Amino acid sequence: MPRPEILNPLFALVTSLSGVGPRQDKLLRYLLGRSETPRVVDLLLHLPSNAIDRRARPKVRDAVPGTVATLEVTIDRHRPSLPGRSRTPYLVYASDETGDVLLTYFRGKRDYIEKLLPIGEKRYVSGTVQIFDGTLQMVHPDRVVDEQGLAKLSGIEPVYPLTEGLALGSLRRAIALALQKLPTLPEWISPEVLRRCSFPPLSEALRRVHVPLELTDILPDRPFWSRLAFDELLAGQLALALVRAQLRRPAGARHAGDGHLRSKVIDALPYALTSSQREAVAAIAHDLQQPMRMLRLLQGDVGSGKTVVALLAAAAVAEAGKQAALMAPTEILARQHIKTIAPLAARAGLRVAIITGREKGKDRRDILAQIAAGELDLLVGTHALIQDDVIFKSLALAIVDEQHRFGVRERLALTSKGDAVDVLVLSATPIPRTLVLTYFGDMDISELREKPAGRQPIDTRALPSSRLNEVVDAVGRAVKAGKLVYWICPLVEESETIEHLTDATTRFETLRERFGDQVGLVHGQMKGAEKDRVMAQFAAAEIHVLVATTVVEVGVDVPAATIMVIENAERFGLAQLHQLRGRIGRGSEASTCLLLYREPLGEMSAARLRVIRETTDGFRIAEEDLRLRGEGEVLGTRQSGLPGYRIARPEVHTQLIAQARDEALRIMRDNPKLDGPSGEALRCLLYLYERDEAIPLIGAG
Ligand code: ADP
Ligand code: MG
Repeated sequence: MPRPEILNPLFALVTSLSGVGPRQDKLLRYLLGRSETPRVVDLLLHLPSNAIDRRARPKVRDAVPGTVATLEVTIDRHRPSLPGRSRTPYLVYASDETGDVLLTYFRGKRDYIEKLLPIGEKRYVSGTVQIFDGTLQMVHPDRVVDEQGLAKLSGIEPVYPLTEGLALGSLRRAIALALQKLPTLPEWISPEVLRRCSFPPLSEALRRVHVPLELTDILPDRPFWSRLAFDELLAGQLALALVRAQLRRPAGARHAGDGHLRSKVIDALPYALTSSQREAVAAIAHDLQQPMRMLRLLQGDVGSGKTVVALLAAAAVAEAGKQAALMAPTEILARQHIKTIAPLAARAGLRVAIITGREKGKDRRDILAQIAAGELDLLVGTHALIQDDVIFKSLALAIVDEQHRFGVRERLALTSKGDAVDVLVLSATPIPRTLVLTYFGDMDISELREKPAGRQPIDTRALPSSRLNEVVDAVGRAVKAGKLVYWICPLVEESETIEHLTDATTRFETLRERFGDQVGLVHGQMKGAEKDRVMAQFAAAEIHVLVATTVVEVGVDVPAATIMVIENAERFGLAQLHQLRGRIGRGSEASTCLLLYREPLGEMSAARLRVIRETTDGFRIAEEDLRLRGEGEVLGTRQSGLPGYRIARPEVHTQLIAQARDEALRIMRDNPKLDGPSGEALRCLLYLYERDEAIPLIGAG
């Protein structure tokens, strides 16, 4: 189904906008998190984090220091920087009838300033005023306009999240051009919902967040932003509903056997299952036994023992002579799974193998032949699992680890490799139930809330970074005692930029000076094999200190590691801190986590560190996280959104998630093939929010 033509202007590349060249392209890719040139729609959905109010037009005498003011002044005289001393500022003296104000330029170009602020003329200057040396000053006015320009000076200017090298002004100009491209799109929200939620039309919503008339227009909880959030959530829910409709049909087959392999696995375990593991296994076995397809989410903290539950699920289908697949998002995770699984499987007589990008040539061919011949019961792997030449004899169970990293397409590609494949999703990110809907739609849920027996508590402490030396000393003692230490360096935002890589690299080098080749480094830009090699050295205690960016966040299992240092802990979100800390406290030895923070510590960061010190219960942490985010929502503090969502905010829009779900269900009931004009409008929505991969499912079969 081709994209509706009406969307073309929005899918034009940003480089088609005047003033957006290759340099901007690169910066915008980074800013908007896209690997290719962003489209006009991506700019429009980049929403302000703040706004500047230039409406205050006081007399000079009444200007309030520390605020933004637009002053009407006459330019009296210039005092250029002293020759040869370019560090002295260029000063422009200006005044109105009530007083004087100094306009200060550091490294100002003389020609430019003389033109901008001609002596004897009237100008409007807008910027933050300050008192400096007893004089009212405006350092680098943001705006300087004459009478004519004043008409065009917007009263309220949006401020956007930026990236280094990208100027606010050029981003604003690009967004203004993008707004002009906005076509009149059909309304996809039903009249009832529009009325109930008081949503404005899309075009008005976009205009008002980018060209606010009031400071509050840009707040996420106002109707403009909320309308956009609802659209995004509706697109997500509709896509999930389409997938679900597809998966529910045809009715699944009965896939569980008599339990003989499961008991063998359980007998082979060196430990007893926790009661929540037993409950999860029972629920899964029950689902597998139903003629309806299973769609179950298994949630549990890192280390809560999901892998063995997954293995038991695979054993259940193997008992019935069928196959299972376990797909992980990364090579490291896939290998981790096979490491846990292989010895247990061997003792139970389950045949397992792994396939990733690294299995090549004959190895790969052998595995493919075995899986096609039904000689393997469980195939573990990465995306490599969904390649076309991977053909199962009888795939009955698809287990997907860390699901929300996979799109709809991957999920379907795996389930389409068998008939009526049951789906088990593993998630190590405990999500409050309200949010489960966002990612998974209506799924059955099993939670692993208890920690396996024998786990030692983690002693978590917070220290100011001024005590770094003590921490390094402590690490030195630990290394001497043979302990394994993770040393985490921060990443701002989700992506690993070069800049933050140097944080890790620099720390690696300083620690190396002290501890020599006891220290290793892993980061996201390293090749898989290289990363694995360093991880393996750490796991084998050939190195004792592993400096890492957040690549160790997910799923890495080195039970012997008992110490973790997290630098700039104040920059991490609660969920991330929790995930990171989950790398330790996995063995039988007591563990310590040291959170180094930079002072001064903001209120929110302090609250986060407090929570993380108080508890290791991921579900509680997730709830606290949501609560804190809710409290922190004030003008100007941009909170991070839901992963995979750009606009919807968990702390503001939880109500909307349920409403979007209900609306998606209504659509599936009333118009499952998205026919007619309202269906066409919904297709537009799916394209806009990149959920169009669900479109081929509409009414299929
Ligand atoms: P998750 O995948 O949930 O992060 P894993 O399945 O990797 O956790 O389990 C973490 C570790 O705990 C593994 O070494 C596993 O063998 C062990 N484990 C799992 N279940 C139990 C249990 N009931 N008692 C003791 N140890 C367990
Ligand atoms: Mg795991």
